[in-house]
Amino acid sequence: MYTQLLINGRLVQGGGEPFTIFNPARGTVLASLPEASAEQVNEAVLAADAAFDSWSQTSPKDRSLLLLKLADLIDSHAEELARLESDNCGKPYQAALNDEMPAIADVFRYFAGACRCMNGAAAGEYLPGFTSMIRRDPIGVVASIAPWNYPLMMAAWKLAPALAAGNTVVLKPSEQTPLTTLRLAAILAEVFPAGVVNIVFGRGQQVGNPLISHSKVRMVSLTGSIATGQHIVQSGAVTMKRTHMELGGKAPVLVFDDADLAAVVEGIRTFGYYNAGQDCTAACRIYAQKGIYDKLVADLGSAVSTLKMGLQDDPHTELGPLITAAHRERVAGFVERAAALSHIEVVTGGQRGEGEGYFFQPTVLAGARQDDEIVRREVFGPVVSVTLFDDEDQGLRMANDSDYGLASSVWTADSGRAARLAARLQYGCTWVNTHFMLTNEMPHGGMKMSGYGKDMSMFGLEDYTAIRHVMIKQ
Ligand code: NAD
Repeated sequence: MYTQLLINGRLVQGGGEPFTIFNPARGTVLASLPEASAEQVNEAVLAADAAFDSWSQTSPKDRSLLLLKLADLIDSHAEELARLESDNCGKPYQAALNDEMPAIADVFRYFAGACRCMNGAAAGEYLPGFTSMIRRDPIGVVASIAPWNYPLMMAAWKLAPALAAGNTVVLKPSEQTPLTTLRLAAILAEVFPAGVVNIVFGRGQQVGNPLISHSKVRMVSLTGSIATGQHIVQSGAVTMKRTHMELGGKAPVLVFDDADLAAVVEGIRTFGYYNAGQDCTAACRIYAQKGIYDKLVADLGSAVSTLKMGLQDDPHTELGPLITAAHRERVAGFVERAAALSHIEVVTGGQRGEGEGYFFQPTVLAGARQDDEIVRREVFGPVVSVTLFDDEDQGLRMANDSDYGLASSVWTADSGRAARLAARLQYGCTWVNTHFMLTNEMPHGGMKMSGYGKDMSMFGLEDYTAIRHVMIKQ
């Protein structure tokens, strides 16, 4: 059932090349699925375009009821979806079931309510004799492109606001991790009218490219790498598509001498390594003030060395594998190059895991310097670097000295300092004495090379609308 695409309300097999999906925890083949053909991508976009006229005229209440129905169906399929997600990504089943599935259903519930609350910003007489009003209308066909780290969650972040705002969608999951989205296709077919939402599967070049460059697509929403984002923005310029870019990150974690050390260690142990560190907000770039540095390195090393790597079904597993063999080699390369530097100490980890799966040990690298590759580039693995700083100004400068601008955190007992830094950190989010926490009511999205546009929240909904002015002669 999950091997099917959804095009114009029908579940169909892909007509393109077969693509092999792996179980990263065992290194075994999970499935071989045919990609969408170029004709099927075209068909999906044309179906979304044809469905737009009537879908965009539905009332927010009607759309809301369908989104609520979808949320209920996700709840009732949660175990099956969590099983597929954990098998395909290697992530612990309990995390997929208890952390991700409820949050996914809630994205749809949030936007089901949000679309009923969206208002134009102003109405009034700005020229004598004329009434002006602002409308927020849907944009048209949205092409949504999702990554592999939280496949169904990212699909939900894209589908819910786009559909709630009255757009029609063609969604492409990552070729590495399509299984939950393809299963969702069958659920979506039960809920939405034909053409309103379409799912195509396949690689970026073969399937993503014809989708994002289609002339009937009016907006492209990507969560993925900077390189893919640059390609999509350049390609979108030809037909002036709106773009929404959620790209990489390299989150700084500023730890001051007055911070609660135990809370810092627990926070980094949890949020630096969640999803094996394959998270754009992972707490991976630690800056520790000189008075707390030694103790932090020692305690963090001990804490991280107790993280339990394992298979997704073991309820004790805290850390799964990396997504592919190639990605593990990439992560290993970063660590090996860092470890070869004389000023870097491998406090714990640093090696590939044993067995057939693509495991990499949870790793802490101390003594890292600002210009080291390990501090500057996104590793996207269970690897945390620790760098020393002297005072607030230097810490802030180092934290902001990055191409990325997605998420950051400050750990201090001084609320004045927390407020000062929150105002000056150039990141889409700053957490204080915590990290990683998201809620559907609040926006998530980057600055600088981490992209632009917001997921979740009313801002996320507004991103999927066009602001229009209507003027009526009295
Ligand atoms: P990726 O850019 O390789 O792939 C993302 C998606 O883009 C995939 O579906 C892929 O098939 C598609 N794609 C690739 N080339 C394409 C093309 N030419 N045309 C159309 N589509 C194309 O990224 P990834 O490796 O899957 O994901 C990891 C990246 O995503 C990391 O950089 C991570 O930080 C980022 N990410 C960001 C957020 C966020 O909220 N900002 C969340 C999760 C992941």
